[in-house]
Amino acid sequence: MSTLPATGAAVKAADRRHVFHSWSAQGLIDPLAVAGAEGSYFWDHDGNRYLDFSSQLVNTNIGHQHPKVVAAIQEQAGRLCTIAPGFAVDVRAEAARLVAERTPGDLDKIFFTNGGAEAVENAVRMARLHTGRPKVLSAYRSYHGATAAAINLTGDPRRWPSDTASAGVVHFWGPFLYRSHFHATGQEQECERALAHLEEVVAFEGPQTVAAIILETVVGTAGVLVPPAGYLAGVREICDRYGIVFILDEVMSGFGRTGAWFAADHWRVTPDLLTFAKGVNSGYVPLGGVAISAEIAATFDKRPYPGGLTYSGHPLACASAVATINAMAEEGIVEHAAHLGEHLLGPGLRELAERHPSVGEVRGLGVFWALELVKDRTTREPLVPYNAAGEDNAPMAAFAAACRKGGLWPFVNMNRLHVVPPCTLTEDEARAGLAILDEALTVADAHTTG
Ligand code: PMP
Repeated sequence: MSTLPATGAAVKAADRRHVFHSWSAQGLIDPLAVAGAEGSYFWDHDGNRYLDFSSQLVNTNIGHQHPKVVAAIQEQAGRLCTIAPGFAVDVRAEAARLVAERTPGDLDKIFFTNGGAEAVENAVRMARLHTGRPKVLSAYRSYHGATAAAINLTGDPRRWPSDTASAGVVHFWGPFLYRSHFHATGQEQECERALAHLEEVVAFEGPQTVAAIILETVVGTAGVLVPPAGYLAGVREICDRYGIVFILDEVMSGFGRTGAWFAADHWRVTPDLLTFAKGVNSGYVPLGGVAISAEIAATFDKRPYPGGLTYSGHPLACASAVATINAMAEEGIVEHAAHLGEHLLGPGLRELAERHPSVGEVRGLGVFWALELVKDRTTREPLVPYNAAGEDNAPMAAFAAACRKGGLWPFVNMNRLHVVPPCTLTEDEARAGLAILDEALTVADAHTTG
């Protein structure tokens, strides 16, 4: 420890020398040097504390440094740090049991990965092998990860540089009433038209060539899009009709984020494969996985599953998942997230929308919300153009800077603020966060033209 640099400036200089950062122009970034974190806060080396309304990358559902999870990792490290996936170990079996118990329906076999993208890669591989079909359908407004298949399934512009390898991926439009692709005027119509569109895409691709339809239960990174009431059941029905595997990606929406263990619980739908990561252990140790239906698991009963990872079911990751899930259950954290969303965050954000002309729409549930920021509420023109960068993105950059200046770390994406604090956020912290957003939104309001 003594060899590590102690000041923020020294940490930043050391970082800039050797760390290559995700999604960034390496010469243009200025990362904050973080010194520590606890609960809903993290802080830098100069004593600036930030209320973490991002949950980092929407993963610290249980907050930072939860003592039970930290203790479980320490205890497991003393017992057994690593063991190959081919062995049976208590902590891996227990993590799988706790996940399987909470996933819907008969998703009772768990394949562990190191994160969300690997979970998506393996779910797609399972679906293709199970059906013997090549194609996978995914939504334009989606994010599924940054590895080969996952980035091609992703709908957002981060897919573009990798698109040369997108064989077998077909995109479709999901429901999103505020910017309806279907010119719908109500949720019911949006739902009907989105399902008819999907059905048409399946028909024109040839159902016998479609292995899977993958959807985020609640679309996360691409805008916190909550599906209309009958949509997921409708997709389930299309999948059943054509023998297509239904994959729900719950990497972001799972483990309390929506105020339920899984977002699928809200609509009582059961997919054939469910991907998870992030909240399963709040990201304390890298972990993700695929929950597999009995029927798909049976495909690989006598025939080997051709996939694996050195760290699949890593003991430290599994120990942290066991502790996280148990703590969430014991402390009523999922129920707390539901209550906070319904009684405080939702009403609080809607109240902000009434007073701030830059807020075009508020949507979400649990601790999973987005404010759609617009130049003009009538035309719904986004505050910044689609995929804006540099000067074009200045209004959003200024808004994010105002949040940070107020002591809140925001999650901003394109023209949206995602309000995604930990599930453990207290009511006082929620009120404090709303007050900071109230102030920061005046910066966004200054860029409105309506
Ligand atoms: N799927 C979804 C729905 C996600 O939100 C993410 C991450 N934001 C991923 C997959 C990829 O997960 P990871 O970054 O752990 O690979």
